Amino acid sequence: MKIAETAISADGVRQMSEFFGAQDWLARARNLQPNDSEFLIELAGRACYRSFGVGLNPNVIKVRDNPRDYLTNVLEKGDGSVLEHASVTFAFLNVSRIFTHELVRHRAGTAMSQESLRFVRPREIGIWVPADVEPAAKEFEEAISEIAKRYRDLEGMFDWDKMSFERKKRVTSALRRILPDGIATNIIWTANHRTLRWVIEMRTDPSAEIEIRKVFGKVAEICIRDYPILYADFTRKELPDGTSQYVPKFAKV
Ligand SMILES: Cc1cc2nc3c(=O)[nH]c(=O)nc-3n(C[C@H](O)[C@H](O)[C@H](O)COP(=O)(O)OP(=O)(O)OC[C@H]3O[C@@H](n4cnc5c(N)ncnc54)[C@H](O)[C@@H]3O)c2cc1C
Repeated sequence: MKIAETAISADGVRQMSEFFGAQDWLARARNLQPNDSEFLIELAGRACYRSFGVGLNPNVIKVRDNPRDYLTNVLEKGDGSVLEHASVTFAFLNVSRIFTHELVRHRAGTAMSQESLRFVRPREIGIWVPADVEPAAKEFEEAISEIAKRYRDLEGMFDWDKMSFERKKRVTSALRRILPDGIATNIIWTANHRTLRWVIEMRTDPSAEIEIRKVFGKVAEICIRDYPILYADFTRKELPDGTSQYVPKFAKV
């Protein structure tokens, strides 16, 4: 789920528009573009050439007035660095460690806070069972129950109430070594729009793992819904397993 996104500071933007002599543009642009993230990206991009209107930079003889035309041109030219000004934060809850291992490989333009399985001793070993385990679903679930039982047996051999927090942390971390990669966990992940476009493209590709494909299919839906210009060039392709691939017209801006 999406839990945060970039917001404009109206007062600062007004002062900035005065500095650039772009008050007329601001009055017009804000009506055309109510979306803070898309507005900020446009604002930052226009500041580069003072292209808030004709006459502010003598070298500029025409400007793309409409936010859609402006941002589409940014994507088309591959000027993706301006997309880094706005970001979105997601809470990915009850995802597996398999998912988080893959997610954290995306370094550029991200911030992450992952549940610590050194500190957090799991009360249960929740696992999402992919359809691909059929026809071995029953045996798969039995294997998980067996691991859970063995974990509880080991856990029961320690007197947790008498242990210091430091000792609990050390033992929790030691015991997690028998826990499976599929264990449900949580991660808070922030990415800017340049990164988001790239990760959606890579991680909804049919070659990506099923869980991350499912999650980034949802991320793509949210981005297309909430930032309609920035993601207008993405098209959805239904894949044979019922998941969706999202392919941008302008790749890796
Ligand atoms: C289907 C699939 C299979 C995979 N299989 C494996 C595997 O078997 N083993 C494995 O180890 N990984 C695997 N990966 C992970 C993959 O190798 C990347 O590490 C991961 O997708 C992150 O993407 P990225 O390198 O584009 O980095 P991001 O952090 O998403 O960066 C985005 C872009 O920024 C630039 N960039 C980022 N960091 C640097 C840098 N330090 N120097 C220069 N440019 C930079 C690059 O242009 C990069 O593409 C797989 C990924 C996918 C999608």
